[in-house]
Amino acid sequence: MTSQPPSAASPANDLPDIRNQPHAILAAAFAEWQQPAYRLEQLLGWLYPRRATSWDSMTNLPRGLRDLLAGRWSLGRLELLRKQGSKDTTQKFLWRLRDGSLVESVLIPANPALYGEAADRHTLCVSTQVGCAYGCRFCASGLEGWKRNLEPWEIVGQILGIERWHTEQPAEARAATTGDRLINNLVIMGMGEPLANYDNLLAALRLLNAPWGGNIGARKITISTSGVVPKIRQLAEEPEQFRLAISLHGATDAVRSQIMPVNRKHPLADLTAACQHYVARKGKMITLEYILIEGVNDALSEAPVLAALARRLHAKVNLIPYNTVEGLPWKRPDERRCTTFAELVQKDGIVTTLRLEKGHDIDAACGQLRLKTERELASAGTADAPIG
Ligand code: SAH
Ligand code: SF4
Repeated sequence: MTSQPPSAASPANDLPDIRNQPHAILAAAFAEWQQPAYRLEQLLGWLYPRRATSWDSMTNLPRGLRDLLAGRWSLGRLELLRKQGSKDTTQKFLWRLRDGSLVESVLIPANPALYGEAADRHTLCVSTQVGCAYGCRFCASGLEGWKRNLEPWEIVGQILGIERWHTEQPAEARAATTGDRLINNLVIMGMGEPLANYDNLLAALRLLNAPWGGNIGARKITISTSGVVPKIRQLAEEPEQFRLAISLHGATDAVRSQIMPVNRKHPLADLTAACQHYVARKGKMITLEYILIEGVNDALSEAPVLAALARRLHAKVNLIPYNTVEGLPWKRPDERRCTTFAELVQKDGIVTTLRLEKGHDIDAACGQLRLKTERELASAGTADAPIG
């Protein structure tokens, strides 16, 4: 490898992002540049814990090294276009990427019953693709199809961007946290099918998991999939103990195939077998996500079928009343139906959660803020000014 001097002909935007690079690549470059090991540690400190957004801010790196870095890699940041919600509720962040694409992240206040643990920590729901090719009938993310995969740095950048945003807030607007870290739980449940962007997802999660990187434990990272069976099997062979959640939404092929096209390719028998394999390899419980949609999958007769499936998989069940999506006909069942359904699943001894809190309208339905903004931008014919 030869070092590439910075060149006017290759603007930073055309270079691969430094936060796409695993440790070994950076170490190889530093060896090639004959830099001592502590310099790499300093760089990593800037890239991750300090969330630097410019080479110039890396004041303890010699200018020559900064020039070498800038000649080989770009240092991207996501542009915060819109934010919705307040510090005590779920907050949605809409990011604009370099190519103008929009993606969302959702910050969820600690909820120990779900994915969170300590009361002062927050869970971040992260996107992995622009749009989604899987076309689940109820979902806003798939409404306009798939546009592209996110690169590792664009996944990592959602966490860094929100941590950076948090530290820039006035003290009274900040969430109560210990230390300057806000997020210690990740759910890969934003826009896109994470397992359809497998390599970039794993690269991003390894950067987020590394002690010198995001320093988020693998057990604090939950990957949600609509059921991409071969990739669940592949994930089972990875060394990390990532948690797995399955977007089930139907306990029988008849119900599931009606709302999730993926079920025709990978029917429940295959999905169940892959989940059993995952549980056997990891020795950890998985979660079955089940959105309750009126008249589609909320018949009380479905509850024991779901409970039986959960028992076979040693899985928890997370019931989520459907969030309505503009332009789609589906509705959530009334509260009573949701509670009865949950009781029936629980009655069979299955660990079950039901999220009934108000103010969840901006929560799980990731993809909606993006859709709304895209439509507004298209009709106004102008671009929003960034807010951060
Ligand atoms: N593609 C992955 C991860 C992203 S979707 C997956 O499908 O698992 C994250 C979760 O939000 C999924 O369980 C999905 O089914 C659910 N979801 C999508 N639209 C929703 C809506 N309108 N209301 C409630 N949950 C929704
Ligand atoms: Fe894609 Fe998941 Fe939405 Fe299905 S539920 S369209 S897989 S994002």
